[in-house]
Amino acid sequence: MTTSELFSLRGKRALITGAGQGIGLTLARGLAGAGADLVINDIDAARLESAVAQLRGEGATVEGRRFDVTQAAEIEGALADIAGEIDVLINNAGIHRRAPLESMPLETWRAVIDTNLTSAFLVTRAVVPGMLRRGGGKIINICSLNAEISRPTIANYSAAKGGLKMLTRAMAVEWGGRNVQANAISPGYMRTDLTGTLTIDPVFDRAICARTPAGRWGEPHELIGAAVFLASRASDFVNGQILVVDGGLLSAL
Ligand code: NAP
Repeated sequence: MTTSELFSLRGKRALITGAGQGIGLTLARGLAGAGADLVINDIDAARLESAVAQLRGEGATVEGRRFDVTQAAEIEGALADIAGEIDVLINNAGIHRRAPLESMPLETWRAVIDTNLTSAFLVTRAVVPGMLRRGGGKIINICSLNAEISRPTIANYSAAKGGLKMLTRAMAVEWGGRNVQANAISPGYMRTDLTGTLTIDPVFDRAICARTPAGRWGEPHELIGAAVFLASRASDFVNGQILVVDGGLLSAL
């Protein structure tokens, strides 16, 4: 097999959640560039429609499925006709709801755990039976540096991403014997709408640039290489790994 065949996603169908914008949309573009057909999801119908139109305009084969990744019945209903045909699943949808831990409302805690952690269980549960039946598949969970290190006001997010890291390993041991690999990508600080309030905060911006050996924020397209690798045959013996793409931040004090 040639190296380009090893990384090719031609003939593969990839489902990416929360792909109406940001990292999910960029990864959709990246996987399409490697030959994958796309099914993209978002909670916001208008944003999803516009993302589908953008990707089609760039030549991708793509359809949109709107659902809320926290709602099992919605997920199963929206994917009923294609759940058995997904080769690559990227559990990307996620939110932040920042609050001091000592006064964090229960709804704020639950919203973040449900959207960043339980969602990956629910969407994977809907599509993995098809992967197991067809003899293989790739699951990529989008974790975070905050699965390893935290900061004040994001305890809910850190707990969810730490849980997602262990869910990734649990998936790997559960299905590794049936040729389904589950790995995670942990992005460092990337410029997206999710981090918009932080990127324009000069104190935070300075702190991130000083702490990151690369000296800057990451851009979503810098995650494409990791996603194509983990979605392709190039990673068939890679399972349960958390691939950190952070400009070196986690290695620095
Ligand atoms: P983003 O720009 O906010 O995009 C996430 C998308 O997911 C949004 O369109 C969002 O819609 C959607 N979404 C939220 N809740 C959903 C639900 N229940 N069902 C379906 N879709 C839903 O965020 P991003 O920065 O691209 O982040 C993507 C992933 O990377 C997240 O898991 C995030 O935790 C992770 N991550 C990001 C960074 C970073 O620096 N940006 C770093 C580490 C990890 P709404 O806008 O309506 O919520």
